[in-house]
Amino acid sequence: MRILRDPAALAAEALQRRARGERVGFVPTMGFLHAGHTSLMDIARPRCDWLVTSIYVNPLQFGPTEDLDRYPRDPQGDAEKCSAHGVDVLFMPDTLYAPDHSTTVKVGGLQEVLCGAKRPGHFDGVTTVVARLFGVVQPNLAVFGEKDFQQLAVIRRMVRDLAMGVEVIGGPLVRDADGLALSSRNAYLSPEQRRRALSLSRALRAMAAAAGDGAADPGALLALGAAQLDVDALDYLELRDPDTLAPYLGGPGPVRAFVAARLGPTRLIDNLAIEFTA
Ligand code: AMP
Repeated sequence: MRILRDPAALAAEALQRRARGERVGFVPTMGFLHAGHTSLMDIARPRCDWLVTSIYVNPLQFGPTEDLDRYPRDPQGDAEKCSAHGVDVLFMPDTLYAPDHSTTVKVGGLQEVLCGAKRPGHFDGVTTVVARLFGVVQPNLAVFGEKDFQQLAVIRRMVRDLAMGVEVIGGPLVRDADGLALSSRNAYLSPEQRRRALSLSRALRAMAAAAGDGAADPGALLALGAAQLDVDALDYLELRDPDTLAPYLGGPGPVRAFVAARLGPTRLIDNLAIEFTA
């Protein structure tokens, strides 16, 4: 595995490989890699000839009071994990933006709810950096995790609306054995906070189980989930359509439950498919 830092060198090589007919696969990350990230590499690896993973803590997607400066980093460990999961090039740019960078990619609608409503500007930062990274890496396919379910939906929409020609693949959310969704931000949690953080997945599982047992009223289901939560502040607990992210108002069809909450200063998110049987 090679480590590249220069976007121009990576872009030139990607162009050559595409011209030779190679399929370029891409897994973008912010580093401090865990089994959720490496699962995306495992999905991409058999689908491409040349696999690029990026590590870039993108300042554009952090709000002024968020954790950009203390975001966890482990370049050595990250490189070992990428190498072990078949990555050909680990792209670690020092910066991606020209000093006079002035373009923002903004996806309407989908990004105005859930995390978009709670983190103004966040998804503009995400779509702008992903578009920028796609310009460098020129991937045939890119894999994103369902851990960030709304992010995946927003990126799919951007790729469709701008005809970017990238196949976007969603990877299932990977959890610790006790149910906690893996996240680089779990490193911030004290043992007591980590124990209470389990209440996010517990709430979602309780809702899925009740729906499976025939509960049909969305309000009652949300109350059941909320009763499970042991967090310092709840950002949202909602049921939405997995494609449009429109609020779920009842009736048949696929539904996704979404939760975001804070334990101390740490903000965690989780989501789960809900199957209504009633
Ligand atoms: P991040 O480094 O947090 O920006 O995440 C990089 C990619 O890894 C995104 O596509 C995330 O959705 C994905 N990811 C992060 N955590 C998980 C997880 N627990 N399971 C699956 N994918 C994940």
